Amino acid sequence: MIEIADGVFIKRHTELDLTLGYITGSGDSLLVDSGMDYALAQEIRPSRIVLTHNHFDHVLATEAFLPCEVWAHEDCVVDEELLESRAVYYSEPFEGKLIEPTHTFRDTVTLDVGGRRVDLHHFGPAHSSHDVIVHVPDVDVVFAGDLVEEGAEAKAGTDATPSNWRAVLDRILDLNPRIIVPGHGKPVDAQFVREMAIPGI
Ligand SMILES: [Zn+2]
Repeated sequence: MIEIADGVFIKRHTELDLTLGYITGSGDSLLVDSGMDYALAQEIRPSRIVLTHNHFDHVLATEAFLPCEVWAHEDCVVDEELLESRAVYYSEPFEGKLIEPTHTFRDTVTLDVGGRRVDLHHFGPAHSSHDVIVHVPDVDVVFAGDLVEEGAEAKAGTDATPSNWRAVLDRILDLNPRIIVPGHGKPVDAQFVREMAIPGI
């Protein structure tokens, strides 16, 4: 875990260059994406996980962190279908259990993480139909999921809406973030997001 702002951490994985987020408050914590690393659950016990979207690399390890709340956008579906894209990368079957969201929202919800305010936003479809942005206003950090990638081009699959992507990034920039954490790669600044290429455009 690397601390990128007061009480805000990232966990980077060599596997797919995946980056998870960990936000701590007084006696409470929240994990941004469960990822694929079951061993991480030995180190941290978040009371909540927020899923940025339902792509397999962001959601498969949720089971390891239970019991905890699992937050996502109301259109986030965690079912067997997401394993089809995993099969492109991994030949062995997924042995774990898929965990559905327990708490959902539509546009915005504010959470209290041990006295610390954390806002979840959905700014419309872009990388997926149901991207969640996690904003920690007291340190100006945003977790952008796969709306932003560092070290590789952002990816647009069949579930993406490239035409709305720039508008969603503009909404993120309107939050005046100092640090933007991508779903893959290392944290970036607003300038990076302003200049990044939108896939499929
Ligand atoms: Zn994705």
